[in-house]
Amino acid sequence: MAGVADRLRAAAAVLGEVSGTPGLDAELLLAHALGISRNELLLRQRDLAVPAAFDGLIERRLAGEPVAYITGSRDFWTISLRVTPDVLIPRPDSETLIEAAVEHFGDRAPETILDLGTGSGALLLAALDQWPGARGLGVDISPAALAVARDNAGRLGLADRAAFRIGDWAEGIGERFDLILVNPPYIARDAPLSGDVLHEPEGALFAGAQGLDDYRRIAPQLPRLLRPDGLAAVEIGYDQREEVGAIFAAEGLEAGVRRDLAGHDRCLAVRPSPG
Ligand code: GLN
Repeated sequence: MAGVADRLRAAAAVLGEVSGTPGLDAELLLAHALGISRNELLLRQRDLAVPAAFDGLIERRLAGEPVAYITGSRDFWTISLRVTPDVLIPRPDSETLIEAAVEHFGDRAPETILDLGTGSGALLLAALDQWPGARGLGVDISPAALAVARDNAGRLGLADRAAFRIGDWAEGIGERFDLILVNPPYIARDAPLSGDVLHEPEGALFAGAQGLDDYRRIAPQLPRLLRPDGLAAVEIGYDQREEVGAIFAAEGLEAGVRRDLAGHDRCLAVRPSPG
């Protein structure tokens, strides 16, 4: 019987066909099959046996199913979230928005946070975990996504500081916020796709012919939602900095760009123009 290390190596070799992170995928799937964390798997691998269910999970991954939908969970920033096919899978790229907020607020802390298009609740709940004195509102147009976000808030012990409501971006919201987080759909309708996005909810991905439709809806709402020294951290596609920057500039908002770990433009840090 091959040991854990050999089985992980063999699984990673075949997963290279479908995944850019085959070793990590194999570890996450084996940890899931064993009902333990990846850390525990890596620490205890000499004492563990590979359960029969592992092969079935590898088959599903080979058929293209995202790891996070197979395991039902995904780590993001400092938290672990439950995810289902009703929500976009949180990506490390989106942590760039939290980094932008950490830098903006410095020694201060935001008191009120709005997450537009909250999905799994990843951005809102990560921010509430980051700032224990903050409270926040997550909005989504998908009732199924909101159910996942509420469940995550409960599991993370954040339900008393997180409210959720169904809504079309910020329509009907009257208050102002210190921090606004937005990861809208931004993929162009005809863009060629591969990988996880083929399995994710279309409503979380596509935004018209150029991927800009939702920025055009959100930008006019931001001036009345942002406190004067507040920040809106908005995710963008790697090549959308100029177009999206111009959409915000037209509403009198200043936008600086922030890159993700891969060096791609990923976040616009949007503030009200002074004066
Ligand atoms: N970041 C996703 C991707 O990799 C897109 C998510 C979105 O449209 N907000 O394509």
